[in-house]
Amino acid sequence: MKTDVQIAQEASVRPISEIAEYLGITDEEYELYGKYKAKVSLGVLERLENKPDGKLILVTAINPTPAGEGKTTVNVGLSMGLNQIGKKTITALREPSLGPVFGIKGGAAGGGYAQVVPMEDINLHFTGDFHAITSAHNLLAAMLDNHIHQGNTLNINPKRVVWKRVLDMNDRALRNIIIGLGGTGDGFIRQSGFDITVASEVMAILCLANSFSDLKERLSRMVVAYTFDGNAVTAGDLKATGAMTLLLKDAIKPNLVQTLENTPAFIHGGPFANIAHGCNSVMATKIGLKLADYVVTEAGFGADLGAEKFFNIKSRFAKLKPNAVVVVATIRALKMNGGIAKDELDNENVAALNKGFANLERHLQNVNKFGVPALVAINKFPTDTEAEIDLLKERCSEKGVDVILTDVYAKGGAGAIELAEKVVEVCETKQSQYMPLYDTEHSIVEKITTIATEIYRAERVEFTAQAKRQIKEIEKLGLDKMPVCIAKTQYSFSDNPALLGAPTGFTITVREIKVNAGAGFIVAITGSIMTMPGLPKVPAANGMDITEDGTIIGLS
Ligand code: ADP
Ligand code: MG
Repeated sequence: MKTDVQIAQEASVRPISEIAEYLGITDEEYELYGKYKAKVSLGVLERLENKPDGKLILVTAINPTPAGEGKTTVNVGLSMGLNQIGKKTITALREPSLGPVFGIKGGAAGGGYAQVVPMEDINLHFTGDFHAITSAHNLLAAMLDNHIHQGNTLNINPKRVVWKRVLDMNDRALRNIIIGLGGTGDGFIRQSGFDITVASEVMAILCLANSFSDLKERLSRMVVAYTFDGNAVTAGDLKATGAMTLLLKDAIKPNLVQTLENTPAFIHGGPFANIAHGCNSVMATKIGLKLADYVVTEAGFGADLGAEKFFNIKSRFAKLKPNAVVVVATIRALKMNGGIAKDELDNENVAALNKGFANLERHLQNVNKFGVPALVAINKFPTDTEAEIDLLKERCSEKGVDVILTDVYAKGGAGAIELAEKVVEVCETKQSQYMPLYDTEHSIVEKITTIATEIYRAERVEFTAQAKRQIKEIEKLGLDKMPVCIAKTQYSFSDNPALLGAPTGFTITVREIKVNAGAGFIVAITGSIMTMPGLPKVPAANGMDITEDGTIIGLS
């Protein structure tokens, strides 16, 4: 089989102006970034204000194995399948981060014959959104440290600065740094660090903003430090909001590209799925819903993190009404959830699959709790055997859940015709009763406990002394009536990455609580969550190259 980049380079890609025209976007409403990328103006939403929305499909998955289980691939494949059966469809995805591209995972533009293109641009610098976010974030950091240096009229306690710097790279050496070394003119000495850009609150804000003015208001509310008296200091207090918004003036506009089969795709924003909500921008999703019959969108990691946050954070804020959920499962990952080691996944093992089914079953029950109809897409791998596929279909049918075998990696949209037809049938016959799982007015402890017991199925939730202190402080600041965003390992329902399948009887320990007043959620951190990942021993970057004639090697 050809590599992803070979397939992408052989695709018959259409000028993006044709895709924009097909969607009914006017000439004034988009700006070309080369021949195959465009930024779409937020004005589309205003112009189409009274047009009814299309249907919204969420693609989520079981708990992933280290390689990722093909959500993006199925997302892209399903949107192409829907297009093939005559439904005007838009794919809406996150922008890849350079960290994973050069680290373990590789790119995030789908795979095989289900990709978005130009994949090399999308996976590398794209339209510069991450640069803009990085710059806006770091401008605020520079203004904050300068404020302390210039006399500190806001009375900021340098030991209580919570705003770090960011970079779109996996660079473990920057996790902890000392800044301000040097002479008296070189700033105040304090310990700080870097996070990866996708962990920036500015990224989460860009993705949750409903409008340009909403972007500004959210940026201004971000808490960057505390004073010696314990009061919050915001980006607004530092008068940074205007300049930050200026840096983001183009980044806020969704990027339009296409799939290998010329299906329109919005690729916009890319927040982490642990300390943030892991979904593409609200603006891209909303504009997509005005322009198409169907929008197919992905949420990061498994449904315990991605779908939960899609429903409780993104859909709540943006007043979205998701119509159906596709839960992606692979036989390989289910076998791993059934206790099989990674190097044995190529061998048929019906018993392990049967055991691992418990993981999928729990995710399906969870999606039900949000009132949205769910179906299962099996993402076919060459190693899957007939006996395994039959068993998985049988187990799903027993539970009354539609299950469809898809082969989009090898066949593109043609591998998802049955899935597309089923999705349409579900949207047309089943009424979605979408509802968030908890009321934001509940206490922080109650909200976290609801997610931990209802979604993760923890027996109890423990809060460290630090977390308890932080909750009190957030309550005192009056910032506690927001949704919570739990940072947890993606590999397990629990906070222990080794507990696969459908564990019970475990305790979730909340170590730390942070407030993202601008993004509008409270972050609860369990386990050890890395906000600046490192590179593996052999990074994907080692295998990448570009030849004299421009042929790209090793990007997938
Ligand atoms: P996720 O979005 O869940 O992280 P991706 O769609 O990015 O997963 O897929 C992860 C990796 O697995 C990619 O390299 C992709 O090309 C590959 N992949 C996905 N589906 C298949 C498949 N059916 N067969 C082979 N490789 C696949
Ligand atoms: Mg993905």
